[in-house]
Amino acid sequence: MHPVTRARAALLAVKNPTYTGENRCIPCTVLNLAIAGGLSVAVGLITARSDGGFALGVAVGTFVFAAAVIYFRGFLVPGTPRFTKRYFPDRVLAFFDKAPAHATGSVADPQDVLLEVGIVVDDPSVGDLVLDPAFERQWTRSIAQYRSNESALKTTLADLARISADAIELEERPHAFTAWADGERVANWPSRAACIADAAAVDSVTEWDPTWEERSLPFKADLLGVLRLFLETCPTCDGTVDLSQDVVESCCRRRDVVAATCLDCNARLFEMDVDLSTLGEG
Ligand SMILES: [Zn+2]
Repeated sequence: MHPVTRARAALLAVKNPTYTGENRCIPCTVLNLAIAGGLSVAVGLITARSDGGFALGVAVGTFVFAAAVIYFRGFLVPGTPRFTKRYFPDRVLAFFDKAPAHATGSVADPQDVLLEVGIVVDDPSVGDLVLDPAFERQWTRSIAQYRSNESALKTTLADLARISADAIELEERPHAFTAWADGERVANWPSRAACIADAAAVDSVTEWDPTWEERSLPFKADLLGVLRLFLETCPTCDGTVDLSQDVVESCCRRRDVVAATCLDCNARLFEMDVDLSTLGEG
């Protein structure tokens, strides 16, 4: 391994993935940086009493050290995630979340597209939307193939992201399955099962949707995500998939979600935030 790559890998290993990277909580980081600033000033003032010449250097050094700890661990003071969850009003927390999910201005709704191309059909006998039976058969067959074929999985993901399959590394962690290429995160799923479902669906979706290749990657990802809501059996263990309401404890708040989860292996296939206050009673 190249020395720079090795150093980067070593630093990444020190990083606490629960509170850094995509999982970094902005309110916690801001609060901790403020604490780091206060601490540095205090250390500077204490040093100034005995040796004025060193005070500024010691204060700056303290701040740099504290900022590095926040960068790598996500927080300086243990317990601040719980502190912000408890004392920061939701209004303040929501303010930090205002960045749009996607920069692209795609206006089409994935569910409308699924209906339009006939992958999802309205079944009057059950009064609900269901998968087209031919699509479902093809998808199920494809899932069984991807389940035991890691290189096919990498090839399809690489085609989707338009990168080389050799560059793709797959990493499985509790509640996360990530595709990396050259140290960059390419895509993230709630489980390996969800990733297999997406890769397997691509093969059939291209047959049903004539304009698939022209669609943006974020839209393709959204569409495949919505499709996972229709899974009735788990892509990795064939267990029954259950759709339920759940509470997810993230770094500094509790989120109400609707989630599709395998009852046998507990793999999460889909998760979407819901606002219970707008859903009304029950
Ligand atoms: Zn399962």
